[in-house]
Amino acid sequence: MNSSNNYIYSLQPNPEGFFGQYGGTYISETLSNIINELKNHYYNIQNDESFWQEYQKELKYFVGRPSPISYAERITQSVNGAKIYLKREDLNHTGAHKVNNVIGQALLAKRMGKKRIIAETGAGQHGVATATICARYGLECIVYMGAEDIKRQVANVYRMKLLGAEVVPVNSGSKTLKDALNEAMRDWVTNVDNTFYIIGTVAGPHPYPAMVRDFQKIIGQECIQQMPEITGRQPDYIVACIGGGSNAMGIFYPYLNLKNTKLIGVEAAGKGLATGEHAASISKGSFGILHGNATYLLQDDKGQVTETHSVSAGLDYPAVGPEHAYLHDEKLADYVCATDEEAINAFNICCRLEGIIPALESSHALAYAIKLAKELDKEKIILVNLSGRGDKDMHTVAEYNGIQL
Ligand SMILES: *Cc1c(COP(=O)(O)O)cnc(C)c1O
Repeated sequence: MNSSNNYIYSLQPNPEGFFGQYGGTYISETLSNIINELKNHYYNIQNDESFWQEYQKELKYFVGRPSPISYAERITQSVNGAKIYLKREDLNHTGAHKVNNVIGQALLAKRMGKKRIIAETGAGQHGVATATICARYGLECIVYMGAEDIKRQVANVYRMKLLGAEVVPVNSGSKTLKDALNEAMRDWVTNVDNTFYIIGTVAGPHPYPAMVRDFQKIIGQECIQQMPEITGRQPDYIVACIGGGSNAMGIFYPYLNLKNTKLIGVEAAGKGLATGEHAASISKGSFGILHGNATYLLQDDKGQVTETHSVSAGLDYPAVGPEHAYLHDEKLADYVCATDEEAINAFNICCRLEGIIPALESSHALAYAIKLAKELDKEKIILVNLSGRGDKDMHTVAEYNGIQL
């Protein structure tokens, strides 16, 4: 696929890591050596067959890829419009798309001779995936997590500990994901010599946004193969939820070359865009710099990052990956929103009509896809990236419904 001659989008960031005005490398002096080392290794693996063979082998025999695409037949019947298909990232080992990226970065860490891995986590999904792969490769694993998130995600914290990781509570700021990211960066500055920082989404200083996308584009590459086998053609629409944007970038990227497939990213509108309690960085944010890159950011007049809200912890991040900011401005993808309530409704529909308990993050994509399907005729095809399974969200959904488990 990389040698296709009718590429309309083969964008790589420029050597400084910019997608247009977004991205870049906004880091402290202390990190410049390690970032350069990482950049060199990232560029080296581009054409290194043996690296990608090992990566593919892990995805096949450990993660269980390729993940299937399921026709959501009963949801489709109930909407009486376009056909809805689901790319089943929920069936990956560890339950979401995150592991694709973690394997890629962990293999890179091994090549660079780094035996100590650090990561940040919000809901705990990236932490669990990282702890899992570190256990498999025999690497030391330290996960930074906001103290508030540790309280909300007791099961995932224990899961990481079972897998041998050390979970470090972060008590600064709002004690959530963005603070955990700051703390992980601080650790990295101090321990650059033996430490590899595995970032969980398409954000951070260059080369992370492009590198994480490259480790997630397997999702879209599989869909390009699978859709014609299942439906005879490529989908008219692809819909994916946006936290930092890694599952969306992974399914979008290969499709940026296909003019007839529209790409739609769904941000978390929380309690409604008008309430201010949301995490819609593209819809409601403005240009700024966070965690090493320039992008759309939720900030106040003084440039302070604002508090965000979403019922799904994985979407509760005040920024978005720089490539999405670029795709938005260039109108190569559309960005819309779904509220907490719409996501919970879609979650319930998916449970009852399809026998699939989706992650609340993925339920945002599904909510928008259902709305869209109703407006389209029956020949149209919508492919939803079901980024993860919802077992982790049992407590949140029960609480939302006023039920005590
Ligand atoms: C973490 C997570 C997300 C959000 O992260 P992206 O980088 O935007 O993909 C979405 N879905 C699931 C299941 C997640 O665990």
